[in-house]
Amino acid sequence: MSDYSIGTRCVQAGYTPKNGEPRQVPIIQSTTFRYDSSEAMGRLFDLKESGYFYTRLQNPTNDFVAAKIAALEGGCAAMLTSSGQAATFLSLFNICECGAHIVASSSIYGGSFNLIAVTMKKMGIRASFVSPDCTEEELNAAFCEDTCAVFGETVANPALTVLDIEKFAKAAHAHGVPLIVDNTFPTPINCRPIEWGADIVIHSTTKYMDGHGVAVGGAIVDSGNFDWLAHADKFPGLCTPDESYHGTCYAESFGKEGAFITKCTAQLMRDFGCIPSPQNAFYLNLGLESLHVRMPRHVENAQAAAEFLDAQDKVLKVNYPGLPGNRYHGLAEKYLRGGGCGVVSFELSGGREAAERFMGKLKLIAIETHVADARSCCLHPASSTHRQLNDSQLAAAGVAPGLIRVSLGLEDREDLLADLKHALEAV
Ligand SMILES: *Cc1c(COP(=O)(O)O)cnc(C)c1O
Repeated sequence: MSDYSIGTRCVQAGYTPKNGEPRQVPIIQSTTFRYDSSEAMGRLFDLKESGYFYTRLQNPTNDFVAAKIAALEGGCAAMLTSSGQAATFLSLFNICECGAHIVASSSIYGGSFNLIAVTMKKMGIRASFVSPDCTEEELNAAFCEDTCAVFGETVANPALTVLDIEKFAKAAHAHGVPLIVDNTFPTPINCRPIEWGADIVIHSTTKYMDGHGVAVGGAIVDSGNFDWLAHADKFPGLCTPDESYHGTCYAESFGKEGAFITKCTAQLMRDFGCIPSPQNAFYLNLGLESLHVRMPRHVENAQAAAEFLDAQDKVLKVNYPGLPGNRYHGLAEKYLRGGGCGVVSFELSGGREAAERFMGKLKLIAIETHVADARSCCLHPASSTHRQLNDSQLAAAGVAPGLIRVSLGLEDREDLLADLKHALEAV
């Protein structure tokens, strides 16, 4: 399937039925699998053979869909998780143990920030946050002897900053550690971070990959490019025997292309159990089959909304990398060839009161804590996600009281623009 172009992979990669088998990805809704002998099953437990024995570790439906996502990102192996948060955590914890340090972009999803800065800190894993706009010197200065991973987000939710993937990959590799990139917003249709040097790519599939707002999920993709054994002292979990798996050394037994995902499945999925249901993997696959058709429409609608808003007197500022005046426009032209994503944020000059009025007048665009869905939706952070903050605390968090985030769906552009126009008139 890797010979085919991206749209064909969206439709068909990951599952090829044999003679007489179901044409659609089958939902293997079974927690367990039957074997002829204990010895046959034992070989699976020894990781000597691959196969299924318990859905907490692996399930065929999930694996078909993970294989499709690996094909889309140009990776060699992938796994699904029950949420994007689980994907972020497992991808980092697979290589960072107590005492490790992470260098992360400060412009990342709030849930990822909290996970890294607060929860993983309690596990003895420290982090240094750097601005995505930092210089190479500032970036290099954030590393220390214990640094085991670099983390960033291609297009950050909700700040809409664009990561200079090559700059971050170069610094990571100079320090002998991998770059992990959250590619949720552009999806592999608009950016494939592995082509720019990222080693591991993760997703909240809850967003555009599902695209219909039906299933929370995540994915982890390994490029197979990072040489763990060349930096064995930093990655004991991959490069020394795992006593919980009969002394298997993942990097030696499974090589560059198999070590990361095999360890993450056999060890972390076994212990944390954050596996999606096969039914949810099936829904995700339905979304993936039209991802290449939907993404350009999300981008077209967002570009039109950004241009419309940018021309309005009542709008102070519009954040969208597709606008020529945007500070990330150059990076967007380099990394986001199909355009960025369908999310735009903007600030009304009338502040909090104007934003509340505007939101109340929308008819088609619904008020929701969600993005990247077929239906357009919007959020006023100051009166929802950031409600507990006063105006000066909001300013410190980089959220203006009049800031509105809108996720442009797949509706017709003229109806969306008319809704924005009508609501602006009421301000
Ligand atoms: C939503 C989101 C997450 C978290 O994913 P869940 O599926 O909600 O757990 C992580 N990263 C980004 C960029 C997101 O937008």
